[in-house]
Amino acid sequence: MTVDVLAVGAHPDDVELGIGGTLHKLVQQGLCVGILDLTQGEMGTRGTVEERLAEATEAATVLGVARRENAQLPDAGLHNTPDQQRVVIEHLRSFRPRVLFAPMAPDRHPDHEAAHHLVRDANFFSGLARIEGTREPHRTPQVYFYHPYFEAAMPQLIVDISAHFEVKQAALRAHASQFFNPAYTGPSTFIASESFWQTIQTRAAYWGSRINAAYGEALYCTQPLGVALPPGLEGLI
Ligand SMILES: [Zn+2]
Repeated sequence: MTVDVLAVGAHPDDVELGIGGTLHKLVQQGLCVGILDLTQGEMGTRGTVEERLAEATEAATVLGVARRENAQLPDAGLHNTPDQQRVVIEHLRSFRPRVLFAPMAPDRHPDHEAAHHLVRDANFFSGLARIEGTREPHRTPQVYFYHPYFEAAMPQLIVDISAHFEVKQAALRAHASQFFNPAYTGPSTFIASESFWQTIQTRAAYWGSRINAAYGEALYCTQPLGVALPPGLEGLI
């Protein structure tokens, strides 16, 4: 199954943290959305690979995502190497999206930072016919970037997710081993703390406030965006 939109994350909950509301909004608009997790999160303090796969599947269902795959690259071992690019290229040529969301750099987590460069370069090389694989070449023409945890710079775009924030929270709760969850017994971690759970709302409310909305998600572009008219003139012409 090919998709309209593909969101790539380094770990199985990165996409939900960064753009879960945006993805649900796109699904509700009738688009076919896919997720590619680059690693299985096997180096995480909480949750087994099997638990995390089941949680990711559940979160995809909550968001209405049609297809979620895992590239099974090494957690805590993502690098922008030709070998890892080839793995990502095979997935990109399978999903064949028109719009791609990928992690932004710089980022405090080395895997997030590596994923930025890895996905960006894999997407370019995926369009080259002489890079061999099992599928036809495909380069996604439009790429946006997001941060899973914290924005490192002012974004170029903020998506109004006010009507989708509760679904984003539900998708994150599906990752029962990862976030604040008194019912889960396991070692405590930063992202499993109640204070981190609160920052998810604070962060979305902050970006929403910058566009006069209740909740927002930040996106970055590294290329100029073409528009037919400057935004703000809708309805006047
Ligand atoms: Zn991550």
